[in-house]
Amino acid sequence: MKCEICGKEASSRFCNSHQSAYENVKKNFATWKKALEITWEDYLREIAKNPNTGKWAKEVAEHLLKKGEKP
Ligand SMILES: [Zn+2]
Repeated sequence: MKCEICGKEASSRFCNSHQSAYENVKKNFATWKKALEITWEDYLREIAKNPNTGKWAKEVAEHLLKKGEKP
């Protein structure tokens, strides 16, 4: 398989870097949701435009938004 985001050879849908970013994005959403009652899409948009977001997480957020993927 190839990573859906960067096309690198991967054992699942994402390469190691994007997979761990994806897991963090999902994990952090649970925290955000409790504090802010934010929707998944708004959360992904926030990550994508936040200058403090790391490169990997940003790419994951943009990818999930494009695909309209739910957590
Ligand atoms: Zn990747």
